[in-house]
Amino acid sequence: MAMTHALRLLTWYDRHRRTLPWRAPPGERTVPYLVWLSEIMLQQTTVATVGDYYRRFVKRWPTVEALAAAPLDDVLSAWAGLGYYARARNLHACARAVAERGGRFPEDEAGLRALPGIGPYTAAAIRAIAFDHKASAVDGNVERVIARLEAIETPLPDAKIEITARAAELVPDQRAGDYAQAMMDLGATVCTPRKPLCVICPLSRSCRALKLGIAETLPRRSPKAEKPTRRGLAFVLARKDGAVLLRKRPPKGLLGGMDEVPSSPWREGKFNPADALADPPVPARWTLLDGLVRHTFTHFHLELSVARATATTDRLATLVPGGAWCTLDLLDDRALPTVMRKVIEKASLA
Ligand code: SF4
Repeated sequence: MAMTHALRLLTWYDRHRRTLPWRAPPGERTVPYLVWLSEIMLQQTTVATVGDYYRRFVKRWPTVEALAAAPLDDVLSAWAGLGYYARARNLHACARAVAERGGRFPEDEAGLRALPGIGPYTAAAIRAIAFDHKASAVDGNVERVIARLEAIETPLPDAKIEITARAAELVPDQRAGDYAQAMMDLGATVCTPRKPLCVICPLSRSCRALKLGIAETLPRRSPKAEKPTRRGLAFVLARKDGAVLLRKRPPKGLLGGMDEVPSSPWREGKFNPADALADPPVPARWTLLDGLVRHTFTHFHLELSVARATATTDRLATLVPGGAWCTLDLLDDRALPTVMRKVIEKASLA
């Protein structure tokens, strides 16, 4: 069964594989650095978004040693917009660790998992795609394909153990790297979350969910807990030439090490922006703007009110710990998270 399944899938892959910036031509293997870089970028981010970032990173830092030698701030600002910034910090730390061992990524699971930011999925993807080892990389796409092939009706996340075990059994001895990418491609282009294209699927003959007529309902999921909403007030202080006052967030935690405009703490529960306005980071004639900036993080929604003021003197920056002016033409080079770009945009459009 496993061989038939793999052969059908690989034959399909040879004809229908997606062309992706990080993918080697047929018959060749992508070097570990590029597999790792693309896999870290693709975590929680779509292929379409990652493409441009990937090209820029590779042009600027063509080797793991080059990335390791870059200042963290440069990496964070090149990453700005991809979200989940802990990934960028781990990316940099991992590049350094690999550069220290001569620029070679380990081939074994334990060695890869010991590196910063590499979990079981990424380790398996690197082992399979870069080294052609028999490893099973189960991401959301693959999870869906396996749940349907095997008609696994247990809801996620409980179904993970069963799905992971079955996925591992199906990996063929030959062409493990192509097989891993074929499963990813099948999930992304044929076995899609809604309306899977079973009529053109190379695995339709062995698909249990198709036989039972339940493909579209799988994988099942346990109901999710609602995300809480945090609220706060962001203070945009601008000079007459448009330069904005920024400060650096603490190195650890949410958006660690990134730049931001000063803001009140972000808290759940009742929030009155007028109260926060009474405690501004610097004395100025603050105006509270209408409307909110909304942003969603992994674990919470954020609603920021925005206050704006014009600085009467450059010296105000010294009142904010780590505060510094940033002129508008340099904003793109700063490690500004998307939510802060939205805040500054709101203040300048208002
Ligand atoms: Fe997915 Fe349909 Fe193929 Fe089954 S037959 S794996 S449900 S696309």
